[in-house]
Amino acid sequence: MISNLIKKVLGIAPRAPSPKLRRVPAETHGLRPESISGCALRVVKTLQTAGFKAYIVGGAVRDLLIGNSPKDFDVATDATPEQVRQLIRRSRIIGRRFQIVHAICHEEVVEVTTFRGAGREDDHQQTDEHGRITRDNVFGTIEEDAERRDFTVNALYYDPISNEVLDYFNGVADLHAKRLTMIGQPATRYREDPVRMLRAVRFSAKLEFQLEAATQAPIRELADLLLNVPESRLFDEILKLLLSGHSHACLSRLRAEGLHHDLLPLLDLILDEPQGEKFIRQSLQNTDQRILEGKPVSPGFLFAALLWHPVLDNWKQRQTQGEKPMPALFAAMTETLEAQRKKLAIPRRYDAIMKEIWSLQPRFVQRSGLRPFRFLEHPRFRAAYDFMLLRADSGEIAEDIADWWTDFQQVGQEERDAMLISEEAPKRSRRRRRR
Ligand code: ATP
Ligand code: MG
Repeated sequence: MISNLIKKVLGIAPRAPSPKLRRVPAETHGLRPESISGCALRVVKTLQTAGFKAYIVGGAVRDLLIGNSPKDFDVATDATPEQVRQLIRRSRIIGRRFQIVHAICHEEVVEVTTFRGAGREDDHQQTDEHGRITRDNVFGTIEEDAERRDFTVNALYYDPISNEVLDYFNGVADLHAKRLTMIGQPATRYREDPVRMLRAVRFSAKLEFQLEAATQAPIRELADLLLNVPESRLFDEILKLLLSGHSHACLSRLRAEGLHHDLLPLLDLILDEPQGEKFIRQSLQNTDQRILEGKPVSPGFLFAALLWHPVLDNWKQRQTQGEKPMPALFAAMTETLEAQRKKLAIPRRYDAIMKEIWSLQPRFVQRSGLRPFRFLEHPRFRAAYDFMLLRADSGEIAEDIADWWTDFQQVGQEERDAMLISEEAPKRSRRRRRR
């Protein structure tokens, strides 16, 4: 109490609560060993048989406890990476900041991590001037491992052999209350790794959980720390957010928390403009729907959609200044991508697809002669067409055009010939839409 007061006066945050183990029995948690993948079960059994501790941990336990199917399975153990590799036949050590082992069974990969060591006041971690952890290499106990995790609901350990869940930070209670609580001092944890702010947004949107008040409070003030995160990591996290199946909710929350400014700086502008807002909303909802239906989603397509309205505005402006349509479009594309690159760097590997989708858009107004036939043969026609449908849905281009292309793909040769529009006298097409 007094030491906390002294710390407060000195501006040092009070100590975070220590881990306190609650053992959750099967009757309460309701999980069964069959709920986890055969591969993960085999890895846990192998490690436990050899005398090590081994648990399913993280997102898989969280998702199973709320009745969702896990994306993948992670295992935490007190065996070192080298020991894991020796025990599990098809496995390899992946060297990153912290070594992990990939255990491979057919299509599935289970990530096996050795318990991580001390979360605070240790000299093994290196931090930068903002408090961000730049190196840590220390193995630890399960309690320390739990303390190092981000949210209480992500620090649950399921033992499929004894069939109990180990809960060190009251994560099960938070799960039931649909609450996302950061373990430890939220501000310190965000300083250590600012990406946790984006994870807070992603999990709260995806799980439809409330951010616990103290977890939410420092985010707005610390948002700028995201600028210190390596670009590739930031990009990976944004991609996870966009491909979470809840991208629309995620972006709304990013905005609500004041986190979007330096990620997709143009987003602010776009979301304030009614047509741009509608287009983005439809693109995101469309992406979410595809993910929920298990259909593939192309990140390039999605980024093309997010940046379309800035391209469009730039393109229009250039044309009013007398530039020819196609050169103006290419210049607008390059300028928009350069502006974006200064913020969230969208890797250049997506440039080609984005540019292709954008530069094919003017071809949808050409509906005479041989051009529509040639366009149908274009390898990117389908992506460009899907993109054009979104433009029509948001009211940016006439529905007629979208209907015409929908019909044109579906009818036979003779009907196609009859559909061609002579450039002098455009015909109205039937109002029929199919996808
Ligand atoms: P999902 O895979 O469904 O997105 P997840 O919770 O499994 O969710 P991962 O990124 O796979 O998320 O990470 C696995 C676990 O590792 C998390 O549940 C969490 O316990 C821990 N973790 C991941 N990233 C961090 C981080 N930045 N800080 C602290 N702990 C983390
Ligand atoms: Mg995971």
